[in-house]
Amino acid sequence: MTTRNLSLLKPTGHLTLGNLLGALRPMAAAQPSDDCFYGIADLHALTIPHDPAALRGLVAEMAALLIAAGLDDSTLFVQSRVPTHAQLSYLLECTAYTGELNRMIQFKEKGRGRDSTRASLYTYPALMAADILLYRPDRVPVGEDQRQHVELTRDLAIRFNNTYGPVFTVPELVLPAAGARVMDLARPTEKMGKSHQDTSGVIYLLDPPDAVRRKVARAVTDSDTGPDAVRSDRDTKPGVTNLVEILVACAGAEAAAGLTTYGALKAAVTDAVVAVLKPIQRRYADLADDPAYVTETFARGAERCLDVTVPVLSAAQAAMGL
Ligand code: AMP
Repeated sequence: MTTRNLSLLKPTGHLTLGNLLGALRPMAAAQPSDDCFYGIADLHALTIPHDPAALRGLVAEMAALLIAAGLDDSTLFVQSRVPTHAQLSYLLECTAYTGELNRMIQFKEKGRGRDSTRASLYTYPALMAADILLYRPDRVPVGEDQRQHVELTRDLAIRFNNTYGPVFTVPELVLPAAGARVMDLARPTEKMGKSHQDTSGVIYLLDPPDAVRRKVARAVTDSDTGPDAVRSDRDTKPGVTNLVEILVACAGAEAAAGLTTYGALKAAVTDAVVAVLKPIQRRYADLADDPAYVTETFARGAERCLDVTVPVLSAAQAAMGL
């Protein structure tokens, strides 16, 4: 049986090299074997203050970039265009308790020190559970930071099934083997993130070669000048380790062999990153001339999502007495 693979990306910033190596590449690698559903989680971008025009722009850019990164063999969709997500979310809010939502780390962290937050920051774990349960996946591969969400999803599915009847598949949480973790070039102990305020250490997928060169040239290294200065050691050489890992992820292990100076390392990283981004940027530019392809791909994707999810929502509604 084909495995169903589901992943959602939040449009809260421009996609980065970290997103490409840590998420889009493994997502593309799953396409030949799995039935893949990849979504842009625009509803999840509304839990904190947002600018409507900026959100629309980020969703459009992300849609074209997912195709440019080669994900158009998958079912691609924008979450808000598949209304079953919001519909099931409400039913799951009626299954969840405030005690368990109070314990969610993101609510505690983003709400800390504020008198009040958007109510959706409190309830979004129910939407996330809906995002998953609608597709009845057997396994949900997520990073450690998402463990709590998937555990809540399992709890809600089990409670719903016990209370109203067996509607949902209870997914298993799987922590995938450590994937590429790209760190910020300017603060190499922090993850390269798309929502960072200071962007000097963040490489974006649409950065032109000059911007890549400038950011890599300014990347933090260390004062080691020995013959084996170019080596990986996350604890004592986080900046250099990050550059070596980016190089290996972009150009293969052999590209890092024989490098002895940070200048040579940075030149190799720049070339490797520019080479990886080039075909994506070329396809992105082509799509700007053919916007109908993006629109049609996502419209087709939303339709397929509805085909798959409407029966699950209907079963949940019927079980609850609606
Ligand atoms: P985020 O951009 O944090 O919403 O994450 C979207 C996806 O990209 C998730 O699968 C993350 O694990 C992945 N991702 C984000 N930033 C990085 C990074 N710096 N290195 C590796 N993977 C990342």
